[in-house]
Amino acid sequence: MNMKQTHIELPSYLDQSDVVRERFERLKKRPVILNVRGLGKQFDSTQGPVTALRGIDFDVHRREFVCVIGPSGCGKSTLIRILAGLETHTEGEVLLDRKPVSGPGPDRGMVFQGYTLFPWLTVKKNVMFGLEVSGRGGLPEEEALQWIELVGLSKFVNAYPHQLSGGMKQRVAIARALANQPRILLMDEPFGALDAQTRARMQTYLMEIWKNIDVTILFITHDLDEAVFLADRILVLKANPGEVQEVIEVPVPHPRTPDQLLSPEFLATRARLEELIHPPQDEKTGLSEDHLNMVRMVPVDDEVADVY
Ligand code: ADP
Ligand code: MG
Repeated sequence: MNMKQTHIELPSYLDQSDVVRERFERLKKRPVILNVRGLGKQFDSTQGPVTALRGIDFDVHRREFVCVIGPSGCGKSTLIRILAGLETHTEGEVLLDRKPVSGPGPDRGMVFQGYTLFPWLTVKKNVMFGLEVSGRGGLPEEEALQWIELVGLSKFVNAYPHQLSGGMKQRVAIARALANQPRILLMDEPFGALDAQTRARMQTYLMEIWKNIDVTILFITHDLDEAVFLADRILVLKANPGEVQEVIEVPVPHPRTPDQLLSPEFLATRARLEELIHPPQDEKTGLSEDHLNMVRMVPVDDEVADVY
């Protein structure tokens, strides 16, 4: 049987419907809360200096959801750590509400991939005392309970982290970060350790939370679908050195729902990300860098892989 490969005709990821275009126009009128200008970071390693980031420029508007995507090692974590004030930069500037960032502060909430809850504190106490950055000596119990309710964990206020699933722990981490009422929530692959179903649920969840509260989100991921599903705009980085390759305005309308994953705009954006992120094929061999040069280890008569 001769199977003809079929290609679906996709629109350009640059095409925006009127609704989407108008939404971006409104977004761009909102005040800019984060300015990143000519940002660079060089690490001194034993093998000499490593340029992790170079010439990074972007702005984030209030209540915008920006995803940063790029291959492993392109400087995503370095970027978010600089924004959080946990790492210094060697060039350029970072302004939050027009003030230079110089160290951590309650105006930035952080959620990382690893579970960063205190295992000896209950859910409620984690939210009340987990992040003492606000300098307020802990959050009033009533306020903590409101944030726990927002992430749907009211039944678990007195549970300890080990009694929760991975998704629930990240929900507590989100509640804890939001409880300080940050201007911007910085998330570094927060769902990276979760299984696919939980991850998808957490994405829908985060969209729901973001819709209902006044917070701006910068979200790092290396998952293409996650970036398209969540973002207003996607900052695509490349590695060695970490530089901005393209900033994509996601043409998928809001509200976002999981059934949009197969919509033409979604697939077109995903295809563009694929093009930017995955290494192009070698012209001579036709193989990508991902191809393994493996020695055949199956019996000669068992050529299953050759049967189409
Ligand atoms: P990503 O999060 O995109 O995978 P990172 O920001 O962790 O990338 O790292 C970017 C680059 O900077 C990598 O080449 C990494 O090896 C280097 N790097 C990160 N942290 C340090 C450090 N503390 N010292 C030296 N090099 C580092
Ligand atoms: Mg990282």
